[in-house]
Amino acid sequence: MRDLSRPQSLVAINTATVKQLTLREAVECLVAAGITGIAPWRDRIAECGVAEAARLLRGNGMRVTGLCRAGFFTGEGRAGLAAALDENHRALDEAAAIGAQSLVLVVGGLPAHSRDLAGAREIAAEGIAALLPHARQAGVTLALEPLHPMYAADRACLNTMKQANDLCDTLGAGVAIAVDLYHVWWDPDLEREIARAGRSPGRLLAFHLCDWLVPTTDLLLDRGMMGDGVIDIPRIRGWMEAAGYEGLLEVEIFSAGNWWRRPGEEVVRVALERIATVC
Ligand code: ZN
Repeated sequence: MRDLSRPQSLVAINTATVKQLTLREAVECLVAAGITGIAPWRDRIAECGVAEAARLLRGNGMRVTGLCRAGFFTGEGRAGLAAALDENHRALDEAAAIGAQSLVLVVGGLPAHSRDLAGAREIAAEGIAALLPHARQAGVTLALEPLHPMYAADRACLNTMKQANDLCDTLGAGVAIAVDLYHVWWDPDLEREIARAGRSPGRLLAFHLCDWLVPTTDLLLDRGMMGDGVIDIPRIRGWMEAAGYEGLLEVEIFSAGNWWRRPGEEVVRVALERIATVC
């Protein structure tokens, strides 16, 4: 396992973790903390414009792990796939413009008024496949993010590492997986599926850190800081690194009631401390 006693060079901060900051403020905060990894959300990019965001990120030597996020292929069913793809193509161009390693895909849940979960999964797979030639040409990997099954109806019908591995096997080069502790920690097949992903070079593309609080008061916006919850983070990090993961440890904490109310500098400082001591 990698030594995390001085974690700055191994860490990325997802801008959703410091939602209280603009992109410029977030970059300044990270530079001050000695961190060069960042995963910006599209709304933060849109606020300052893609060209300015690209200058800001490049000018400060930031390593952009992924642009968050695109996908949502399924919401209007197959009839809406073309429109969803238009938006995804724009997101891919943005990702390329800011030098992002990947575009993170949350694939979408059930179409409106539908109970056809298997059909939704087919549409999602079609959408990813349709986006793939553009992604390969742009040099931006599509990072499939399995989401916790509690989001299957409204956010993502891609819910397990096994599903993500199966999709990657089918689609080939240009797709990989973003492993987010919040979404996969409960999965009894997690160790096996991480090891399986590790057998395909580059497939384990991103590793999102947070913790699962007990009780969780909001299933979207009450993620915990590492160490404050029940996820055995060192164990899962061990599985990732045994499978060959060498990428950044990306802190992604949606926390409307706690961390978003604190100064961004404090959030980043505590995240670094926790990575060094509990991850
Ligand atoms: Zn994530």
